[in-house]
Amino acid sequence: MANGIKGKVALVTGSTSGIGRAIARAFAAEGANLVINGFGDYDVIDAWRDDWKAAYGVDITYSAADVSKPAEVASLIAAAEAKFGSVDILVNNAGIQRVAPLESFPLDKWDSILGVNLSAAFYATRLVLPGMRERKWGRIINISSMHGLVASPHRAAYVAAKHGVVGLTRVTALETAGMAITCNAICPGWVLTPLSKKSVDALAFEQKLSIEDAKRALVGAKMPSKQFVTPEQIAGLTVFLCSAAADSITGVPVPVDGGWSAW
Ligand code: NAD
Repeated sequence: MANGIKGKVALVTGSTSGIGRAIARAFAAEGANLVINGFGDYDVIDAWRDDWKAAYGVDITYSAADVSKPAEVASLIAAAEAKFGSVDILVNNAGIQRVAPLESFPLDKWDSILGVNLSAAFYATRLVLPGMRERKWGRIINISSMHGLVASPHRAAYVAAKHGVVGLTRVTALETAGMAITCNAICPGWVLTPLSKKSVDALAFEQKLSIEDAKRALVGAKMPSKQFVTPEQIAGLTVFLCSAAADSITGVPVPVDGGWSAW
């Protein structure tokens, strides 16, 4: 029980793909029971869920709740608590993205991006906190973005939502300070996942680049490392933030950005 995660219950939203899936796997490998969430093919999700259960000896439930809907988040958390007795670790990770200039940014996309990337974290946080306070331990990790710290053009809703996530993280940390509950945000630079692949494809189309050249251009424009961050690196930091070594880290946005914020 070196890092205190073994036997805990972790809920990771948006964990059927990309960063969330890597985080969920890292928690399973550490011996946490898991609630995974997100969209995708049920048979495919069931297959890797069974693999992880067998490999790591943990219990894993799956919910396709739409986390932008408060009632679905309430059911998700009630089901997790009914099954496992608690939610000790909450990772608000589900996210969507849309790129368009401000004047033509679709109204419905503004609402859905704010809903999934920001409001969902509020809906879940407010419901897991009472149990964490009662048990006197909890970890909340919000997956923000470098776009939670700086802006890029054509990402109004995403940048606004991710900055909002950093603000929510700080408030959560202040309201739980001194209670063995911490709340931090992780701010990744570019990570190659289905979400960022859309930005790669758009750049390739706009600048008539090959996909490989578009990947290099996207990353090179922002990250001195010129390398994508990996989902496993984000997962490793998430696990660290749940460890005893991180007990005094709360309310901070942590960049994992290959030097983006050092420009
Ligand atoms: P992804 O597209 O691979 O995964 C997104 C996940 O969210 C999927 O499991 C999807 O099913 C789920 N999801 C989407 N809408 C949902 C909803 N309404 N309810 C429940 N689940 C929903 O994307 P990713 O790159 O792994 O992104 C994960 C997080 O990391 C997001 O918050 C994203 O903003 C953030 N992030 C990504 C990058 C990047 O470069 N990929 C960089 C910084 C931050």
